[in-house]
Amino acid sequence: MARQNPNIVVTGTPGVGKTTHAEQLARNLGFKHLSVNHIVKDEGFHEGKDEETGSWVVDEDKLLDYLEAADISSSGGNIIDWHACDLFPERWVDLVIVLRCDSTVLYDRLSARGYKGKKLDENMDSEIMQVLLDEARESYKEEIVVELRSDKNDDVDGNLERIEQWVEQWKKDNAAEA
Ligand code: ADP
Repeated sequence: MARQNPNIVVTGTPGVGKTTHAEQLARNLGFKHLSVNHIVKDEGFHEGKDEETGSWVVDEDKLLDYLEAADISSSGGNIIDWHACDLFPERWVDLVIVLRCDSTVLYDRLSARGYKGKKLDENMDSEIMQVLLDEARESYKEEIVVELRSDKNDDVDGNLERIEQWVEQWKKDNAAEA
């Protein structure tokens, strides 16, 4: 059966504002916020932390099995929040939001979070080289990938409004097709 609500991936470099956007979107829309970081940590879907970067080494098979069992594809109404997106099957995903951030702003946010050394450098490079945007464009159809700025608080309000309007339209289009 076709899903009643869309599934939205919110991705981008750590610190760009994924959690901020995903939490508010989930609340406003009554959708479920799936923070992949939390799932990986809580369910133990990892093989410890990378010594140099301090990031989880994720067991992607276990993660995907878990999400598959949560019936994402048919239930819909999920906001999947993670700093990677290419592992989620296309059939699960209706919209991919790639959040982008000015590098000076991101540097301050990551430093405030305690990132330093290699972990800080790698994430800064990733944002400057638009690694997540390219990953999203390579993994999904061009028309479902949307790049949005997340430098200021006003950006969050504007982005949420735009995404919520998109969801309304998606529902109308899908009701018409059903
Ligand atoms: P992520 O989930 O991508 O790692 P967070 O949502 O945790 O990012 O945001 C990192 C920090 O930056 C938080 O302190 C958050 O309040 C702040 N932040 C995120 N987006 C914005 C924005 N558009 N304007 C101002 N502050 C922001």
